Amino acid sequence: MSEARNVVIVTGIPGVGKTTVIDTAVEMVKSQHGEEVLVLNIGTEMFEVALEKGLIKDRDELRKMPTAKQREVQRLAGEAIAKKAKTARVIVDTHTLIQTKNGFLIGLPEWVSKTLQPKTVVLVEADPEKIAGRRSSDETRTRDEQRVDEIDTHQRMCRAAAVSVGTITGATVRVIKNREGKVEEAASELASTLME
Ligand code: ATP
Ligand code: MG
Repeated sequence: MSEARNVVIVTGIPGVGKTTVIDTAVEMVKSQHGEEVLVLNIGTEMFEVALEKGLIKDRDELRKMPTAKQREVQRLAGEAIAKKAKTARVIVDTHTLIQTKNGFLIGLPEWVSKTLQPKTVVLVEADPEKIAGRRSSDETRTRDEQRVDEIDTHQRMCRAAAVSVGTITGATVRVIKNREGKVEEAASELASTLME
């Protein structure tokens, strides 16, 4: 198992700031090292698969589909992502646990984790109260209501899920705090993982 790995999975709960931190880190790597990073988003890929199959019209409807359908779409999206993730530096942006009517759907089940073979799983975390604030002030998305204590529990469960991916794949697990107004700090940690 000494092969070089090029995939970094960036995960964390909705609204924690994954996409914002990723975009900033990709810019840093480009300007400081002249390197391009390919960013793939499992949610976007799932949305495209579900749209093609005529199952939904809106991205936020994904998690409302019957869980068996979500799993099927997730499998197809995972395979599509794994195929695209063959370039030099890749980030996979994904949720860790997706809240459905029937409990949490695991964002990185064994079969997705194994096909991706990540070198590191980066778990982005933030203060639950700040996450609640970020969700309500972000008008680009329709996010589910969650109380601050539920956000806290969800975030703790994500740690367990991130460690499980490390256990299955041998990836390292890095927790990065996305502090309020300090995206650059979090992004610089992510950039260092990308360039490691
Ligand atoms: P999703 O899982 O739903 O895609 P996400 O984790 O990718 O969410 P973003 O869309 O990156 O989250 O960020 C959610 C909101 O929080 C955005 O409006 C963003 O501008 C804001 N935000 C992100 N990071 C910070 C930060 N460090 N301080 C303040 N606001 C932030
Ligand atoms: Mg995002």
